[in-house]
Amino acid sequence: SGERPVSIQGFSLEPNANATDASIRNTILENPGFGRHFTDHMAHIRWTEDAGFHGHQVRPYGPLSLDPAASVLHYAQEIFEGMKAYRHADGSVWTFRPEKNAARFRASARRLALPELSDEDFIGAVKALVAQDIDWVPTPASAAEESSLYLRPFMIASEAFLGVRPSKEVDFYVIASPVAAYFKGGVKPVSIWLSSNYNRAAPGGTGYAKCGGNYAASLLAQKEAADHGCDQVAFLDAVENTWIEELGGMNLFFVTRDGRLVTPRLTGTILEGVTRDSMLELAKDEGLTPEERPISIDEWRDGVASGEITEVFACGTAAVITPIGRLVSEDGVIEHPEGNEVASRLRKRLLDIQYGRVEDTHGWLTRL
Ligand code: PMP
Repeated sequence: SGERPVSIQGFSLEPNANATDASIRNTILENPGFGRHFTDHMAHIRWTEDAGFHGHQVRPYGPLSLDPAASVLHYAQEIFEGMKAYRHADGSVWTFRPEKNAARFRASARRLALPELSDEDFIGAVKALVAQDIDWVPTPASAAEESSLYLRPFMIASEAFLGVRPSKEVDFYVIASPVAAYFKGGVKPVSIWLSSNYNRAAPGGTGYAKCGGNYAASLLAQKEAADHGCDQVAFLDAVENTWIEELGGMNLFFVTRDGRLVTPRLTGTILEGVTRDSMLELAKDEGLTPEERPISIDEWRDGVASGEITEVFACGTAAVITPIGRLVSEDGVIEHPEGNEVASRLRKRLLDIQYGRVEDTHGWLTRL
């Protein structure tokens, strides 16, 4: 038989000879948890200063071989993305606004002095990987199940060199992990710890970039939140310690009594969430007035106390939309009203679009 190069979606393919048995895979898919299990393949594109991006490949998932001097291990020159593939009732598989993630990945790359990957390569790598591992995309048994295939594109500086300068060798990968709903047992309001000892990002820093260092720097504050019995940490701006920015991994929204949906404006110190942008669009469909502006911690506290703010919620790809039930800080506890009617409506609307249960009037879905 003639040896022909095997490829998938323009990526050369090295199939995994030790791919997971279907029975084991199906057991995993019944109860995947979050970010613990990975599919059989990964997509890879290499970049060198001389050759640019090349070597597009889908190959078996497995450990990377990295020189101990690789600059990512020392200077954290690294960026990543987070998105999902959703299986619709007819079996087809789709992703949500991938061009937004591709654009944010380029913005992150610029900030971290990494090479900028085109939409074609970014989305192409996702498509190639999902095509090869399509059986790993869970089939939600019901609308309540919210299972999906979480996609994690990332780019690392792999040149073996201890000088501090942008790496001349870079590797881009996409890995994938089947996931269940982020919070088991349905949507429960979460408690938020307001960090007063730590900030997440400063003007001129890397807050708007999705780089590993931001998350490493947030872990101690997240630990402090847990020590205070809270689920998540909220950060204030680093200059005045007055303005609400975001959570460690989600953007924040406030619903007002007079029907406005308010979120902190983009200042360069918060992440431009794809879910955040989608909320601002969906607000209009739901008869709410979207508003991006500075919101102080006093406005949050006083607004909940006076009833001017009727709901607070967080949003992001992983947990979708999560109502906030209480705000805890050194100054005490503020309980939030129950109900979260607007958050529930927006959450349902977004999930209905992502899972193909309503018409995609915004043109947000891309078939994988
Ligand atoms: N803020 C931060 C710091 C995040 O890590 C994320 C998750 N990417 C978000 C907000 C939400 O972004 P998205 O809606 O694109 O998932």
